[in-house]
Amino acid sequence: MSKNLFDLFVIGAGSGGVRAARIASTKGLKVGLAEGWDLGGTCVNRGCVPKKLYSFSSHFSDDFDLMKSFGWSSSKIKFSWKSLIKNKKNEILRLNNVYDSLLKKSGVKIFKNYAAFLNKDSLIVGKKTVFSKNFLIAVGTKPKRMNFSALKSIKTSDDIFDIKELPKKLLILGGGYIAVEFASIFNGLGVNTKISIRGKQILKGFDHDMVENLMNQMQIKGIKFELENFPTDIYRKGKKFIVCFRNGSSDEFDLVLEAVGREPNLDKINLGNVNVKVNENSSIIVDNYFRTSQKNIFAIGDVIDKIQLTPVAIAEAMNVVHNLQSKKKIKFNYQNVPTAVFTNPNFACVGMTEETARRKVKNVKVFTSEFRPLRFSMSKLKDKVFVKMIINSKNEKILGLHYIGESAAEIIQGFAIAIVNGLTKSEIDKTIGIHPTSAEEIVTLKNWK
Ligand code: NDP
Repeated sequence: MSKNLFDLFVIGAGSGGVRAARIASTKGLKVGLAEGWDLGGTCVNRGCVPKKLYSFSSHFSDDFDLMKSFGWSSSKIKFSWKSLIKNKKNEILRLNNVYDSLLKKSGVKIFKNYAAFLNKDSLIVGKKTVFSKNFLIAVGTKPKRMNFSALKSIKTSDDIFDIKELPKKLLILGGGYIAVEFASIFNGLGVNTKISIRGKQILKGFDHDMVENLMNQMQIKGIKFELENFPTDIYRKGKKFIVCFRNGSSDEFDLVLEAVGREPNLDKINLGNVNVKVNENSSIIVDNYFRTSQKNIFAIGDVIDKIQLTPVAIAEAMNVVHNLQSKKKIKFNYQNVPTAVFTNPNFACVGMTEETARRKVKNVKVFTSEFRPLRFSMSKLKDKVFVKMIINSKNEKILGLHYIGESAAEIIQGFAIAIVNGLTKSEIDKTIGIHPTSAEEIVTLKNWK
């Protein structure tokens, strides 16, 4: 067998690609993998991991306030952006090495270059031609860009983590996950932060009441919102960014971050040479088994535009490998995928929003609770927990659970098991709460609207 003939060749070493390559290789397939950037992809290098590290860092400003309410005091607190970046770089480097060693230990041949299809059976990686029976495209997405005059100086999530110094005044464009998470991070680090969106609400598609509550809490913490007032142009004047808004006003900022969505990362793989069809937004079209319109080419992760979350890409990878090796093919289940937005406060949910539930289910009951958690009760911080549970009133099955507050993601991760497995509210209510916690409220919800 030629050394460059594979059973499976994976393009892209993000979370999905790496998992597929490793598992396929440990199951006995000859696997190659190409990556032109850092191992670990967006999540490890420019997404989930550094974002969460920076989010932890940004919460310390609240923690210092909280500390005082418990009797602690400290002399002047100082924050160093440079040490945060340095420590983050070391941690990411450690993870890159972990990925490298996991892949090598499982026998995957790594090609550190971009791959481009020559035809359905081969591709070129750097100067090498590689043949494979099957291919897996897991190239992810990249930030979508808008055409403002200052395009080249406007930052995206690819480069914002490593800016040389913190701006005093920052404008963030967009109201999706990335925009709101960075707003909380920079606000927590002391930056005067404003979000500008074209609509009325951030986080489109999330539960309306939850988003309203979150926006209020973010506002109380100092984040400003420019609603239905998106820039018409942004240009440089000296070191400043001059932003002209739709309503005719203009303002000056030290930095602008564009977070207006992401688009498939297809520039380098030469899809034109193979019969792989794409949607209008350039995402790759796949069937229920992640097969593209070209039989031996599969695609997973953000590039297929289903649910763009790391754990989903990893689960899709496992599904592809299973289906490649088994006669009994399994369809992927996209229902009840829990998710979290790492704003301050955190927001997490699983299942339907109230709006979707009322549209799809005849009779729904909605339980809510809003309270000030004990940890914050002696401090000046205004944080509140807001919980919403939506049930089908006919059979009591929980349709959705939404939570704003400290450790929202950790709490929802646990409760998601109940929802994924179809538990009812009375089954949840059988559970005795752990007192005093915030999560105990979920097993004692009584008020419905
Ligand atoms: P999102 O799709 O979440 O948000 C894009 C935002 O940009 C929306 O507010 C949208 O506005 C706005 N927008 C899009 N086009 C325009 C335009 N032409 N003019 C003005 N505004 C525009 O994208 P993100 O880039 O924030 O995140 C990408 C994906 O990455 C997410 O969907 C998520 O799946 C994943 N992610 C997950 C995280 C997590 O799990 N915590 C964290 C970060 C990312 P409108 O609402 O009006 O459409």
